[in-house]
Amino acid sequence: MLGAFRRWRRERVLRQSHLDEGLWQQTLDRFPFAWSLNPDDQRRLRDLVVLFLHEKQFAAAAGLQVTPAMRVWIGLQACILVLNLGLDFYRGWSGIILYPAQFVPRHQRVDELGIVHQGDEPYAGEAWLGGPVVLSWADVQGTEYPDGVNVVIHEFAHKLDMLNGDANGFPPLHADMSRRGWADAFTAAYRDFCARVDGGEDTMIDPYASESPGEFFAVLSEAFFEIPDVVQGEYPQVYRQLTQFYRQDPAARMMPVRLGNA
Ligand SMILES: [Zn+2]
Repeated sequence: MLGAFRRWRRERVLRQSHLDEGLWQQTLDRFPFAWSLNPDDQRRLRDLVVLFLHEKQFAAAAGLQVTPAMRVWIGLQACILVLNLGLDFYRGWSGIILYPAQFVPRHQRVDELGIVHQGDEPYAGEAWLGGPVVLSWADVQGTEYPDGVNVVIHEFAHKLDMLNGDANGFPPLHADMSRRGWADAFTAAYRDFCARVDGGEDTMIDPYASESPGEFFAVLSEAFFEIPDVVQGEYPQVYRQLTQFYRQDPAARMMPVRLGNA
C-alpha cells in the first residue's frame, strides 16, 4: 500500500512539475497506444510520466547528451505499462542508462545450466535485476512505429517480470488472477510459437520471443501494446491474461482509431 507520506510527496511533485505541454502533446501524438487513450487516461499517463521522471535518474554513457525530449519519449513508453498498475510496480531501482547506439555488456551472464557467458554481441537494451534499465538511443528512436517491436516496452516488461526474481515470464500476478491460467496460456502459446519459428514461418510477432519464456513475455508485451489485434487473433488466451495483468485492453481502445484511419 502506498504510504500517506509518499502519496503526499507525489501530489506535491505533480503540483510543482513543469512538464512542457507542447513537448508532451508532440510525444503523445506519436504513439498510437497513447493517442488512442481517452482524455482522462491521457491525463493519468501524463501524471505518471511526471512522477516517473522525478523518481528515476537518467544517466548518459559514451558522450550522449540526454535532453528533456528523450526523457519524455522514454518516460511515456515506460509508463504505458503501469498506467493501471501504478508507479510502485517500478520500485526497487532508479537508474536508466542511455547509450548513443548499441552497446556490448561488460558483465558476465550465467545461464540456467550455470554456464558463464561473456558475450561480444551488441545489445539494444538490457534490464538488470534490482539495477538499471540500459537502452540504446539509436534503437529507442523509431519505436513509435506500431510494428510490435519496441525496446522500451520490452525492457520495462522485464522489470515487471523481475518483481519476483529473474525474468522468467512469470511476473507477480494480481490476487484475482490464476497462476494456473497464466501458466497454461503462456506455455501452450510459447510451444506453438517456437514450432512456428523453427518451421521458418515469417511471424508478425518478433521471432526473438522464442528465445525463452522470459523473452516471450517481454516480446508479447511489446506486441500487446503495439499490435494488440495480432496477439488477440493468434493467442487469445495470452491476450486475455495480459489484459488482466496490465488491466488494459489495447485492442478494444485501438479499434475505433484504426476504423477512423480506414
Ligand atoms: Zn529481453
